[in-house]
Amino acid sequence: MAISRRKALQFSGVFVASTAINASTKIDDIKTSKASKTKTEYKAPLPPAKGPRVVIVGGGWSGLSIAKYTKIFAPNADVVLVEQRHEFVSCPLSNLWLVDKIKLEFLTHDYLQAARENNYTYFHATATDLDRENRILKTSNGDISFDYLIFAPGIDYDYSRWTSDIAFETRLRQEYPAGFIPGSEHITLRNKVLNFKGGNFILTVPSGNYRCLPAPYERACVIADYFKQKKLKAKVILLDENNTITIKKKGFQSAFDELYADYIEYHPNTTIKNIDLDNKIVETEFDEISFEEAAFYPHVRGAKILERVGIAKDAKNMLEGDINTLTYEVKGEKNIYVTGDSRPMGFSKSGNTSNSEGHHVARLIAQKINKDKKIIWEPPTTTCFSAVSIAPERAIYIYTQYAYNKTDETFDFASTSSSENWLKDGAVNASSIYDWATALYADMFGK
Ligand SMILES: Cc1cc2nc3c(=O)[nH]c(=O)nc-3n(C[C@H](O)[C@H](O)[C@H](O)COP(=O)(O)OP(=O)(O)OC[C@H]3O[C@@H](n4cnc5c(N)ncnc54)[C@H](O)[C@@H]3O)c2cc1C
Repeated sequence: MAISRRKALQFSGVFVASTAINASTKIDDIKTSKASKTKTEYKAPLPPAKGPRVVIVGGGWSGLSIAKYTKIFAPNADVVLVEQRHEFVSCPLSNLWLVDKIKLEFLTHDYLQAARENNYTYFHATATDLDRENRILKTSNGDISFDYLIFAPGIDYDYSRWTSDIAFETRLRQEYPAGFIPGSEHITLRNKVLNFKGGNFILTVPSGNYRCLPAPYERACVIADYFKQKKLKAKVILLDENNTITIKKKGFQSAFDELYADYIEYHPNTTIKNIDLDNKIVETEFDEISFEEAAFYPHVRGAKILERVGIAKDAKNMLEGDINTLTYEVKGEKNIYVTGDSRPMGFSKSGNTSNSEGHHVARLIAQKINKDKKIIWEPPTTTCFSAVSIAPERAIYIYTQYAYNKTDETFDFASTSSSENWLKDGAVNASSIYDWATALYADMFGK
């Protein structure tokens, strides 16, 4: 089944009604004056709050969605988005940029525009600590008092299963970056791909709930296609810690077999035992594989700021937010939340999930600000397109919703549909990739 442009947009959740709720809460003068009396290093250069102050740490897919929709649902909120980057660069679709299929401009977006269009403040700084008692967020550019605080800082890498040697980890990060956090990692990886002369190009897939399940397989396909078009004597060697392709298996497996039999070597169930960076050899349980280039994707964990401020839970070493999974509130707190890829729920760590969840979290916060009736949990949705070839362009997709199981308090898939026959539907799906991305960028950056 191909997915139409209209369906793609509906599935992605960007058609959610954006009816503003009349807000009545006044500025919490008492809290503001109490906070200003506390001993702080220095105050952030921000105008006084004109309403309940909602501070969001992280301007990714989650934080941007929460910032915009909190203002829509609670217009009197004074929303501040604290982000350490100067501009937004999208991870979704970045695999296409690695192989020169799209321009960087398509992925790059303007935080100032998002803030202007949606009446909130973009504050360029890194959150460094939290004074819970006095409700102050510490940042590299001063302290910010808050009424509501949302941590949406994404992921960090966890190299500990490969090494405890920090010098070696630093080499891995610098010489063979994973390319799953945007910025310089992606530029390094792109240069490796575009300048590749031939030989083995190793990519890895970690186990656990890593960021964007299909992205390593998509990356293998588009890089292989790029090498194929250039008629390089080259192989993408995909070392997967999982015992099989973790998502859209039919589509990716058939692409590996039918399109890239000479270009992709897929190794499931593969744990790396040693990486010899000087001699460029990876040792697994079964093999020794030499490589000319590589991108080593380690395990992921919640961003380190969560641990720093004492709100991370050490479950399966993921160190994600220690929250009530239905309300997103940090345990023991009423007005501090963790969302996006830092959440502990096993939802797909995807931009679409973060965006649709962000709409709901904004409603939760607005409900408190507006003192409205409690709202019920709404499942996030995951719509995800993956390219399997670039010439011609073909893609596959999956759509998933989640359900809550009250008995054991866990989440499961409620409904899933997919389109993995790239020969039949691949071209339509490929054009939907751009429609999806354009709609989501507009949802986060436009009015
Ligand atoms: C190659 C690739 C392809 C992908 N493809 C898709 C796709 O096709 N579809 C899809 O839906 N998803 C895709 N994803 C996944 C998607 O990018 C992530 O799931 C999404 O970015 C998660 O959103 P987030 O807001 O939780 O985190 P992020 O988007 O990472 O945002 C976190 C933000 O917090 C900021 N931050 C962190 N710490 C601090 C701090 N202390 N102070 C201030 N700011 C801070 C960071 O700078 C960052 O901007 C892909 C990811 C990759 C890497």
